[in-house]
Amino acid sequence: MTKRVVLIGHPVAHSLSGAMQQAAFDSLGIDARYETWDRTPPELADAVAELRGDEFLGANVTIPHKERVVPMVDRLTEEAHATGAVNTITREGKRLIGHNTDVAGFRVALDRLVGKQKMPRQAVILGAGGGARAVVYALITEGFLRVVVFNRHLHRAEGLVRHFSRSAAHMELRAMPWHESIIESELAKTKLVVNATSIGLTSDETPVAADALGSDLLVLDLIYARTRLLRDATAAGCVTADGEIMLLHQGAAAFTLWTGQPAPLQLMQERLAAARAGGLRSAEGEPAGGAGEADDPPASPAEATAEPAATGAAEATAEPAATGAAD
Ligand code: NDP
Repeated sequence: MTKRVVLIGHPVAHSLSGAMQQAAFDSLGIDARYETWDRTPPELADAVAELRGDEFLGANVTIPHKERVVPMVDRLTEEAHATGAVNTITREGKRLIGHNTDVAGFRVALDRLVGKQKMPRQAVILGAGGGARAVVYALITEGFLRVVVFNRHLHRAEGLVRHFSRSAAHMELRAMPWHESIIESELAKTKLVVNATSIGLTSDETPVAADALGSDLLVLDLIYARTRLLRDATAAGCVTADGEIMLLHQGAAAFTLWTGQPAPLQLMQERLAAARAGGLRSAEGEPAGGAGEADDPPASPAEATAEPAATGAAEATAEPAATGAAD
């Protein structure tokens, strides 16, 4: 029987994961098909329930469902539990396990960005969605001492900070309101800035004014494209990276979870590059709400049982997500 792996998001039509995962299955002779399922939030629970069928190896979960799917699985790995976000699901019999491979993907991206420099201890994070949760958790466990999270809707950043209050007890993790002057002032004090918003995904906007970027900043944009933020940062003399490495490595980790085999990294990277050359700029899905077309062409487990919650999932379930992930 041909096995199935699905990407659940809304919308998902232009996701890059399909190209790299299908090529990986085919190259290792694994009889599996990677499909995309466009499911709205009200349709999510039924889609997840369907994954319990024998033909499924598992799934990827993307915008806007990463937080919402948490109480719908039966068990969470340590990283999914710690972040409160799931981007990969595997199946054990009829039970579904929620993983977060964005954390591992971000760790690789951060290491590459920092290179031979000393790992910074301070960071500014723009955004407070599912992607930002993986970033913040990775920074906490990396030993960062001060992390400031800016979000358009401040309450979501405050929810994120509350979520990590225990794991970040030894450090300063703060939510701040999205005001240009406050962002500028924090950027002047930090070494690393990560764009975990979808600003720049479907338009040529930037979350940060170009003159706020000092030349010694490390700038990582989770979006898989040469965004305006990255172009401005390069012009300012910053070291920059886009979301490619994170996307590749979260996908490779998911592949291994579904198949038990090492991922063919080079092939997957080639497929991503080909999809990018074809004009796709999305990392993992587009922002919900159907923003306009891009106007700028792209250039360039250890497992733990989750806390029980009052849901109908089979066994232990996760704590409910603080907010929905949709814009
Ligand atoms: P979510 O939908 O969970 O979060 C979206 C974030 O973007 C929120 O913080 C939201 O703010 C913010 N945002 C959206 N539009 C605006 C705007 N106009 N002005 C200010 N803030 C805005 O998405 P994810 O966290 O899953 O993904 C966020 C980005 O990260 C996407 O571009 C995604 O492609 C990328 N990503 C890349 C990965 C990779 O592997 N390279 C992995 C994961 C994510 P608010 O809460 O106020 O609405």
